[in-house]
Amino acid sequence: MKILTEKIKYRARELGFEACGITSADPFPEYLTAVRRLADFTPAYKNLYLNLENKYDPKKSAPWARSIIVCIRSFTRYCFPPGLTNIIGRNYLADARFPGNPDYLMIKNMTDFLRSLGLQVKKGGVPDRLSAVRSGIARMAKNTFIYTEKSGSWINPVTWRVNAELVPDQPDNTSPCPENCSLCRKNCPTGALGCDYTVYMEKCLSWINCHAPEPAADYLTMSMKNFIYGCDFCQTACPLNQAVPPGTEKIPGLDEIADHLRPEKIPALNEDFYKKHIYPRFWYIAENNLQRWKNNAAATLTGRKIPDN
Ligand code: SF4
Ligand code: SF4
Repeated sequence: MKILTEKIKYRARELGFEACGITSADPFPEYLTAVRRLADFTPAYKNLYLNLENKYDPKKSAPWARSIIVCIRSFTRYCFPPGLTNIIGRNYLADARFPGNPDYLMIKNMTDFLRSLGLQVKKGGVPDRLSAVRSGIARMAKNTFIYTEKSGSWINPVTWRVNAELVPDQPDNTSPCPENCSLCRKNCPTGALGCDYTVYMEKCLSWINCHAPEPAADYLTMSMKNFIYGCDFCQTACPLNQAVPPGTEKIPGLDEIADHLRPEKIPALNEDFYKKHIYPRFWYIAENNLQRWKNNAAATLTGRKIPDN
């Protein structure tokens, strides 16, 4: 299994992943505990958390799974049109699930490679960030994002369950955070970061501006600040990201849509343009829900505040 493990890691590097690690397909009891604690703590949003519960056991939906392969895709080499990073989370601007993204084929090619080795393979379906920690290729910070030395938190973990007992790596459960740092919490506009290593999804702008149930009135009262799709405040404030050099490579198509996505221009977006150029990249907001973009833009422009609770 050592040779197979090395072969997989070698191919991951060849495809452009920053790192590749292996962990077993054993359960993640800490994930289950966290999800249940959050469900108990916020009864109104219980199901939001309990829907994630099954991920804790990688064998629940793949009883044949023996190992988890985790790869880190960094998007630090990319630069973004001015202004766009203030309104859309970088993770979504550089989303490799969008076919126009230069990294789109990395993930598909890795899946194909694993299948070409004769392995049974299932992508995702496990706690991705904890898998990266347990395979030792990234560390979990207090804002619940995972970090690498090279790319900070500007990374995506990608996971595959396979039916081979690969050689597992050592976990890295150390924190990258200075003990007395709480800049992420201080810069979170909605109080979504609770005690360290805890995020309340129902308060996080990334959930509020894309996924929270409508009608809009429910979330327009929250402080959207400038973010219309996703949110990066807790990552841009983080000192661990300050040493990451800015990228230089453009992602095709972003320059062309940047001006249309300025909050003051969004009310004028028409359905055809939205369906052709915006929705295919940013599909967390439904194809028939351009109105949500307009509501979000209005919320950022009026700057309504989150009520105290
Ligand atoms: S993504 Fe935004 S809203 Fe969510 S925890 Fe970070 S700063 Fe807070
Ligand atoms: S802002 Fe500070 S506490 Fe928060 S994740 Fe970054 S280093 Fe850790």
